[in-house]
Amino acid sequence: MMQTNQEWGTLCETGRSQSPINIQTSAISQSNETYINFKNYNVLLSASIRYEEYTIKFDVKQKDKEVKLILGNKKLEKQYQLKNIHFHWGCTEHHFNNQSYSLEIHLVHSLQQNGTFDPESDPFKRLSVVALLFEKSEHENEILNTVLDMIRHNSTDRGLNKKSMAYRDLLPKDLDYIYQYSGSLTTTPCNETVLWSVIPKKNHISSRQILAFQKLHKKLYNCRSILPLNGRKIFQVSSIKFIDNASAIPFKKYEVFQLNSLLTHFIGYHHAVGCFDKELTTNSSEYTPFETAYQLFLHCYIGIQEQQLDPEYKCIL
Ligand SMILES: [Zn+2]
Repeated sequence: MMQTNQEWGTLCETGRSQSPINIQTSAISQSNETYINFKNYNVLLSASIRYEEYTIKFDVKQKDKEVKLILGNKKLEKQYQLKNIHFHWGCTEHHFNNQSYSLEIHLVHSLQQNGTFDPESDPFKRLSVVALLFEKSEHENEILNTVLDMIRHNSTDRGLNKKSMAYRDLLPKDLDYIYQYSGSLTTTPCNETVLWSVIPKKNHISSRQILAFQKLHKKLYNCRSILPLNGRKIFQVSSIKFIDNASAIPFKKYEVFQLNSLLTHFIGYHHAVGCFDKELTTNSSEYTPFETAYQLFLHCYIGIQEQQLDPEYKCIL
């Protein structure tokens, strides 16, 4: 692939719990005690985009610090804050039954912990990365088109892209189970500090979209080769929940008039109507029209508060 393992630091060469791995689905252990919760993944993605040597990275903005992954078992629960989203294209880092696919997205979360942390005695790690795999298909993936537009405009702002997406939109619609194992960073220094959550259900990507990633970064592929399991176990976790921020969607559908007056109060009636009209007619996500409208309201409102957006320009788009 891009670099041979020998060219990297010592741990990359000698580590015994390295990533990525091949996941042999016939050798998975059931895990009835552990659970994975996605918290506040319903909010709109808001990140700064930058090119790194080996990838394109979305650094999640501070205002989305409540977007979290919660990992737990009967005794312990740990919260991880979403830090960045990045891409591996033209290949996947993880394989399933020795097969590689066309795109892998990594959602990198960092442990929120006060006090000391003993990596030897604690089964949880400092980082938790969710891996999403995309299989080549004849059909375009609309969400990836939004991602590509964001990269082209170097912004997640819908004022530029005319599109927005929630973090959750990246994940497959039905998430029955996730494979979890202990591993490492897949780039140097290959620290073995990652609890991986690999989603077995694959999404799809078209050839044109794969090419778009390759052209944007001028790299054909950027995946590390698979490394031996060395006796590590892969667990199937079936207890998965989405916990949407109650305060982010405080109204029920029948309270739409209250929301309307709130919008009028903050951004003016004209703009409020513009926001509603636009989003209600164009959004095809799983949210109810009301939830979508409220998401959009938050986006407009926060944008205006942060003075990134001119209210008029933004809300009549
Ligand atoms: Zn990665």
